[in-house]
Amino acid sequence: MKPLLEVRDVCLSYHSISGETSALSHISFDLMPGEFLAIVGPSGCGKSTLLNLICGLLKAEQGTILMEGQPVSAGNARIGYMLQKDHLLEWRSVYKNVLLGLEIRKEVTPEKLAFIDEMLSTYGLDKFRDAHPSELSGGMRQRAALIRTLALKPDLLLLDEPFSALDYQTRLNVSDDIGKILQKANKPAILVTHDISEAISMASRVIILSARPATIQKIVPIQLEIEDRTPLSSRNAPNFKSYFNLIWKELNKNV
Ligand code: ADP
Repeated sequence: MKPLLEVRDVCLSYHSISGETSALSHISFDLMPGEFLAIVGPSGCGKSTLLNLICGLLKAEQGTILMEGQPVSAGNARIGYMLQKDHLLEWRSVYKNVLLGLEIRKEVTPEKLAFIDEMLSTYGLDKFRDAHPSELSGGMRQRAALIRTLALKPDLLLLDEPFSALDYQTRLNVSDDIGKILQKANKPAILVTHDISEAISMASRVIILSARPATIQKIVPIQLEIEDRTPLSSRNAPNFKSYFNLIWKELNKNV
């Protein structure tokens, strides 16, 4: 099977009047179709920079990033990006918010509207389609943001700490929901998180980045001893804790 995404020997430095900040150094990894990858690393090591390179918002100084063999470029509709902040527009209803990406891309078709209706009802938001974002809970807002992203039917989803603004209980529930949604859709995703448990519970591989400039310190394949794995049930796997300890030790080498 060919990788969906190939990141090869990528380096990036930021240049400003105060000098040069080297953010990423010789990063290489693949993402296979349907795979869920998590990236953890010390704060400020370059995780968001890496996602910005993958979606083409930044250009690598050295190295290449290919999606299905083609260099990634800005505005690539095949890559969906979800951030910590949901960026829902208060003056638009929930329905109008989830429709926004399709409107901008002029892709409002009966099939895509039916797909949105189905997702709103599956994820408990159909009763809130005329509500405004401030009337929703944090978890509902993140679900709406996810539906807005999935409406564009991206081939790859980038998630940059999408649950970190939520309280602990909501965070567990929403990450479970979102993990199941992506699992069901067999949607490949890359999740950046500082939460080791979240990374293990959702991903099939965890990439540990070193302190800045980030290099790949270790890639840990996750094979949990549990059937019908979901993000929540993963946490009960007997070997969950040993993965936690392994990743914790690796991250602490940076301290
Ligand atoms: P992380 O997501 O791991 O917290 P970032 O990718 O946001 O880290 O940033 C990596 C490093 O690059 C940080 O030291 C940050 O201060 C620096 N950085 C990020 N964006 C810029 C920029 N536009 N100009 C200069 N430095 C930047």
